[in-house]
Amino acid sequence: MTGPTVESVEAIGVEAPLEEPFGYAQAWVDTRTATLVRVAASDGTVGWGECWGPVAGTVETVEEVLAPHVLGEDPREVERLYDRLYDAGRATYQTVVPLPAISGIDLALWDLAGKLRGEPVSTLLGGARREAVRPYATGHYFPQVDDVEDVYESVVEEATANADALGAIKLKTGLSLLGYGPGEDVELVRRVREAVGPDVTVMVDANYAYDRTDARRVGRALAAEGVHWFEEPVAPEDVEGYARLAGWLDVPVAGGECHTPAEFDRLFEVGGLDVAQPDVCIVGGLTPARRIARRARDHGVPLVPHVWGTPVALAASLGLIATLPGEPWLEFDRSPNPLREELSVGSFAPDDDGLVVIPDEPGLGVTLDEDAIERYRAE
Ligand code: CA
Repeated sequence: MTGPTVESVEAIGVEAPLEEPFGYAQAWVDTRTATLVRVAASDGTVGWGECWGPVAGTVETVEEVLAPHVLGEDPREVERLYDRLYDAGRATYQTVVPLPAISGIDLALWDLAGKLRGEPVSTLLGGARREAVRPYATGHYFPQVDDVEDVYESVVEEATANADALGAIKLKTGLSLLGYGPGEDVELVRRVREAVGPDVTVMVDANYAYDRTDARRVGRALAAEGVHWFEEPVAPEDVEGYARLAGWLDVPVAGGECHTPAEFDRLFEVGGLDVAQPDVCIVGGLTPARRIARRARDHGVPLVPHVWGTPVALAASLGLIATLPGEPWLEFDRSPNPLREELSVGSFAPDDDGLVVIPDEPGLGVTLDEDAIERYRAE
């Protein structure tokens, strides 16, 4: 007996220019982008996935390099197809496996597999441990201003509002983007802590702004401010640096959005992460994210997925979070993103208890607004 097979794979780039750019350690963001992946099965069922990154190159990689490896295959055999995509990606590029592009197809296959089986992805991934998750607010980026006092004022105002709403916030450091340095970064965190009080959970994300020496200095100051974790203190390639910092610092060291599955293995082996943060739209999809979650558990490291995309990214991340041990968080992006707000029917707003409910519909549990997708489709 044969079931439905993969009939088509379409990649749809979406772009939303922002009215005002915002900055973090590495860059200014003036457009939000994603590549959605629509996989249709021979019985008409459709699954959706999402790729992180620029539209340019991603659409072609999905449709021309990767899609031929899943067409005609059983979409329920996701693990096998992920391995095939990974091997095909490596054979094509040799030094780099196009993990964000693979992510879009992998997520769409999980969505499709769940819909074909009539089960949410959390069931397919091994079983849900919760129905809802606490969110923390990501945002607090740098405005395009000259005076650091104006940065402090802007960030303190936004952080206070998000702290009132959710009780947990993540700040950005890396004011080197504006010509300042680690001293101003620490001052920014100090001012926010003073404004929100001692009971609010405050994380700090440096987006690898520092070398090891500055990271150690900043990390010690963050520990004194009661910071919950210090994210991406140094460059993702510096695995040994992560291990040293995790040993030197009292504040937990977090990271993962820039790491490959193989790098997670090394980081766990050397004790380089106190919190592991794979992104299902970057690391290759739910298949490697689940494997990383298993290894994190074996090493006693909590996993908190990185999330910064459209409702597809949110739904897929929630499906993974449902299955995690311990008390995970949802990274709840509050920075401007029309794609996040408009591409789905319904949204993922916190409920009256301040928790975000995890979808329990078949597949990822997200319904996309195809008119909205057309509105934002990249030229
Ligand atoms: Ca981050």
